[in-house]
Amino acid sequence: MHDQPNSPSPRPDDVADLLRVAHAAAQLAYSPYSRVKVGAALLAEDGEVYTGCNVENASYGLTLCAERAAIVRAVSSGERRFRAMAIATDLPQALMPCGACRQFLFEFAPRLWVHVQGAEGGVETLNLSELLPRAFSPSDLPGSSGPGSVDLRG
Ligand SMILES: [Zn+2]
Repeated sequence: MHDQPNSPSPRPDDVADLLRVAHAAAQLAYSPYSRVKVGAALLAEDGEVYTGCNVENASYGLTLCAERAAIVRAVSSGERRFRAMAIATDLPQALMPCGACRQFLFEFAPRLWVHVQGAEGGVETLNLSELLPRAFSPSDLPGSSGPGSVDLRG
């Protein structure tokens, strides 16, 4: 099991700010097929926020979710430690991250706070540890001591 402590619960003002950024990111979605706009705002430990939107493709299987787009943007910018992610959509109801995104997020932030909101405004907050219990993790691989322990830099 992982012995990392849970991050402190996010402050409501921070959540509202992060959700606003996620809604703005959703407006940039490229989704001519589903016509669903999703935006993600990923809060790094240093306070920086990285955004992503869903990017669809005529070859449907290549579609990239907003959550993974945000992680890729952050990691590509040198960031690897995260506190929270807000996920917003223009659908009335909030959308939960798909299974692929849950696994992708777990790699870097197994205790990430996830806030979801749809156009009707209700916010739900969950921890990634609830969304992906008993996850496959880097510690399942030989030579790795746990999530986030893999450092390929330098
Ligand atoms: Zn996804």
